[in-house]
Amino acid sequence: MTEKYDVIVIGAGPAGYVAAIRCAQLGLKTACIEKWQNAKGEGVNGGTCLNVGCIPSKALLDSSYKYHEAKSELSVHGISTTSVKIDVKAMIERKTKIVEQLTGGIAGLLKSNGVTSLFGTGKLLSGKEVELTDHKGGKQILAADNVIIATGSQPINIPVAPIDGKIILDSTGALELTAVPKRLGVIGAGVIGLELGSVWNRLGSKVVLLEAMTDFLSIMDQQIAKESLKIFTKQGLDIRLGCRVTGSDVKTKEVVVTYQNSDGEEVKETFDKLIVCVGRRPFTEGLLAPDCGVNLDERGFIFVNEKCATNAPGVWAVGDVVRGPMLAHKGSEEGIMVAERIAGQKTQMNYDIVPNVIYTHPEIASVGKTEEQLKQAGEPYNIGVFPFVASGRALAANDSEGMVKLIAHAETDRILGCHIVGPSAADLVQQVAIAMEFGSSAEDIGMTVFAHPTLSESVHEAALAVNGHAIHIPNRKKRK
Ligand code: FAD
Ligand code: NAD
Repeated sequence: MTEKYDVIVIGAGPAGYVAAIRCAQLGLKTACIEKWQNAKGEGVNGGTCLNVGCIPSKALLDSSYKYHEAKSELSVHGISTTSVKIDVKAMIERKTKIVEQLTGGIAGLLKSNGVTSLFGTGKLLSGKEVELTDHKGGKQILAADNVIIATGSQPINIPVAPIDGKIILDSTGALELTAVPKRLGVIGAGVIGLELGSVWNRLGSKVVLLEAMTDFLSIMDQQIAKESLKIFTKQGLDIRLGCRVTGSDVKTKEVVVTYQNSDGEEVKETFDKLIVCVGRRPFTEGLLAPDCGVNLDERGFIFVNEKCATNAPGVWAVGDVVRGPMLAHKGSEEGIMVAERIAGQKTQMNYDIVPNVIYTHPEIASVGKTEEQLKQAGEPYNIGVFPFVASGRALAANDSEGMVKLIAHAETDRILGCHIVGPSAADLVQQVAIAMEFGSSAEDIGMTVFAHPTLSESVHEAALAVNGHAIHIPNRKKRK
């Protein structure tokens, strides 16, 4: 007999498992199908984010930063450390334990909320039926009033540097290195390239990043991107812009990469390991039966409207598999919106306020519009910038590189964007995201009392600077 649900979710990453939990909270009979298997062959929830993305990368970023701090940053505080060593195996094992703890936690959350968790591959058939193929090949047909697709994304491969899992790695392989490579090449100086490049740079690799674009972090606010490039270069990341990789020759223990540099010259560079991280693409392989009625867009994403409804009634799609930034929190919010809409609520998601963070040190964080976007749109704006070097708290922590840049509408003073490179940028930008969600002006933040001494005061000062009232730096524009 066909098992019938109110909702079937396909994929248990941050978009899918959050959607499933919210559906169950709203009283809907919900099943969540996941095909991921861990190294032991067990079905696990959590998707890219928990297994090979956000969480393991942050675990390695934190471990490697502590090593770097102990080795190079503590002497300024009068703390001497000698013979600081890194045990890469122990670092990777710690990361794996955190992943296990969190993926196990999701299984517990699904269970306690009453979601039926099913392991295997889901395929959408016509009439909102789903074929489930379990890990032993057994098949079962399920049916639902609503289906939510949350099958995520996978790394883009490039023919000039095919992944072999030994010397040429994707981001997943780069989280499993058992020794520090002496020479590490990275194709793509985007988010993953910078985060994983930083990990291995801190542990002693000589890291070269080959980036196709001539502008660094081309979609970010360019003032912040330029400042970040200076900081990363000082840290030893060798970021080469405008490079076109044309080939890779894998030898027994190394790879020779050929590329054309920004002057058009052919260059050959040898690396012990090469990470390819040139973006991700939506994952829909084997997912859609030809008559299921769901369309893809021209880039292969599942086509959805702003409510995440596909063109097949009762079928929704959320997360990396649909348009928009590939971020865990964006997918989770979409999952909540869809669950609530299925339950008859009118929930909408504010796509204008989705914070974006690169977890280097210092972090880069942004929300809202960049100065370049506003210029292009012809919107009048004022800017307030506060450098961390003028922050007492940042100086006390010996962590004073970077700046807060706040942008507000020139006529209404409404905050339009905030871009930060600096200590705890992720948490600072979130304060501005909350303010923006409430329609705050720069003056509203300026009139808020901030605790002293905190890094948050830098957001306060940037907001004051928008209207020429900053206290702890000279104001570029004097306004009354
Ligand atoms: P996924 O997490 O990819 O989950 C989709 C799930 O669907 C997978 O488990 C997959 O096995 C399953 N699935 C696919 N097809 C089927 C099927 N037919 N049947 C059953 N199951 C199926 N984002 C951030 O916001 N912050 C970060 O710090 C961050 N760091 C990252 C670091 C790295 C190295 C990487 C690679 C990504 C990072 N991301 C980060 C991006 C983030 O991981 C993704 O945006 C997020 O995981 C997308 O969530 P999702 O649920 O849409 O898809
Ligand atoms: P990305 O889009 O951030 O960066 C890819 C970079 O590779 C770009 O700068 C691009 O210009 C460059 N590139 C593309 N083709 C190239 C080529 N042939 N040669 C050289 N350079 C090339 O993608 P990513 O770093 O692979 O990460 C994928 C996605 O995962 C991100 O877009 C992001 O959505 C998500 N992610 C987020 C976080 C986070 O939120 N902290 C961390 C990691 C990943």
